Amino acid sequence: MKYISTRGQSPAQAFSDILLGGLAPDGGLYLPQFYPQIADRLAEWRTLEYSELAFRILSLFVDDIPAADLHAICTKTYAAETYRYCRPGCNAAEIVPLTTLEPDFHLLELSNGPTLAFKDMAMQLLGNLFEYVLEKRGETINILGATSGDTGSAAEYAMRGKHRVRVFMLSPEGKMSAFQRAQMYSLDEPNIFNIAVRGMFDDAQDIVKAVSNDAGFKAEYKIGAVNSINWARVMAQIVYYFKGYFAATRSNEEEVAFSVPSGNFGNICAGHIARMMGLPIRRLVLATNENDVLDEFFKSGVYRPRTSAETKVTSSPSMDISKASNFERFVFDLVGRDAGVIRELWRKVDGGGAFDLSHTAYFSALADFAIVSGRSTHADRLATIREVWERYGIMIDTHTADGVKVAREHSLPGVPMIVLETAQAVKFAETIGEALGRDPLRPQELEGIETLPQHVVVMDADVAAVKAFVAAHC
Ligand SMILES: *Cc1c(COP(=O)(O)O)cnc(C)c1O
Repeated sequence: MKYISTRGQSPAQAFSDILLGGLAPDGGLYLPQFYPQIADRLAEWRTLEYSELAFRILSLFVDDIPAADLHAICTKTYAAETYRYCRPGCNAAEIVPLTTLEPDFHLLELSNGPTLAFKDMAMQLLGNLFEYVLEKRGETINILGATSGDTGSAAEYAMRGKHRVRVFMLSPEGKMSAFQRAQMYSLDEPNIFNIAVRGMFDDAQDIVKAVSNDAGFKAEYKIGAVNSINWARVMAQIVYYFKGYFAATRSNEEEVAFSVPSGNFGNICAGHIARMMGLPIRRLVLATNENDVLDEFFKSGVYRPRTSAETKVTSSPSMDISKASNFERFVFDLVGRDAGVIRELWRKVDGGGAFDLSHTAYFSALADFAIVSGRSTHADRLATIREVWERYGIMIDTHTADGVKVAREHSLPGVPMIVLETAQAVKFAETIGEALGRDPLRPQELEGIETLPQHVVVMDADVAAVKAFVAAHC
């Protein structure tokens, strides 16, 4: 399997060569040259445990790591121990247990890993793949990132203790929830560096961009990233669509629908690929919050990324995006993988503009991709959290609530609906308090983490200071 760029002007690459990088040199995103077809494998895969299923699926996309090594990586990554923060009475060995709210309406628990958000599902794999490939090549990497919450902590917990990897993670001082701060800053690992920046998330993000644009510094200090456009993250996420399908159905003739709380289009992109591979998905439901750039596209054919000033701060913050960084992958398939069309469309997007497919054949072709969309607001979120708690005794987080709300608008009779549960309620205590008038439930093991000693350096939003810190710790 080789990987090609959506912009069509970079050479095809092997998996291990795109693993550590970000964008392709031509500015595009990497995708496999073709989607392996698996319809005739479903019977054999139905009863596999998660790590074995992951190995079968990843083997279709990774052909430059020996099978025994890839198998060992999957076994190590998807161990019950790592995903043990599940609801009382659950079976952690399932890795992504299915919780049934009512017949044909389920939650797929993707947030039972160390940081209680679905980002762990892919990031844990990335940590083990990075360590493996760097060791083979005798290289090191210094990951520099900015986070407003979920991504940074998932990266730190995935990379902690890994050889040849250091993580420098910038976060906006005082802007994350007490639980999120405790989660990140209580890590005491020689290869993890928390830097709280006096400013907003955008200030932290701008510093990362400025450092990455300094080619000399980047090369000298081997600066890398683990952002959501990384192909291996998308690939890892394909696996749980299969697992969820098997858990919600009895036979491979059945179809299901998935509802996906979406921001950067990474999670649902994996669902799209699972469907292209032949998994019987009737419908993919894309749920946004008030930042509804993707809902707008699927309804109107117009893709108009917002400015950061237009981006709203909401109570499902991990979906607060101005543009959807993985969306180009889907549009590449939508336009029949014509890289020339993508270059033309993203010439507008990269120049700060929009594109409109409404009067083109591509917009009619959207129906073939089975994605429908909807939007959810703060009031919807509160009502949904309350309703799910009162009716089923299940506490869901704000992002999952967006998924449940929009799923209800797009359910089809007789087609099981699987809502992807992307985080646990405890990460968003303030909104849970507002909805339910009580503290969120939390895994027992994480009682009191707010009182642990914290390890964080506070700095002004100053590029030179951050560079000096990185240089001093490499
Ligand atoms: C990242 C995140 C999302 C959005 O996922 P995308 O892949 O960016 O679409 C949704 N919910 C939670 C809790 C997240 O952390």
